[in-house]
Amino acid sequence: MFRENMKTEGSTRSALAARISISALIASDVDLVAAGDEWHGSCPFHDDGSVSLHVSDPVGGYVCFDCGIAGDAVDWIMHRDGVSESEALACIAAMRSGSSLNARSPTCDESLPVVSGRV
Ligand SMILES: [Zn+2]
Repeated sequence: MFRENMKTEGSTRSALAARISISALIASDVDLVAAGDEWHGSCPFHDDGSVSLHVSDPVGGYVCFDCGIAGDAVDWIMHRDGVSESEALACIAAMRSGSSLNARSPTCDESLPVVSGRV
């Protein structure tokens, strides 16, 4: 069910997305509960009264079974922060080069590094 929703656009994107833990990224925004190989939590993209958001580290993706939003780490940042793909990729690169991706990931804001060649 995850793979049908996954996007495989570029090697740079997938390589970057694979470098971080999707559960660690999403856990910085949503309280996740372990459920077997997955993590479940309330979807932040709609008024979720239950735990419709399912996150899978082996797949590197997430899907909400209520509103249908789904994707990988890059999509999460794009949806959450309303940024472009290149900005989301820069955010992930900054996370990795920064300190650690433990409790809270750095928020992508105006200090976001600009991807070379594009503003
Ligand atoms: Zn949802």
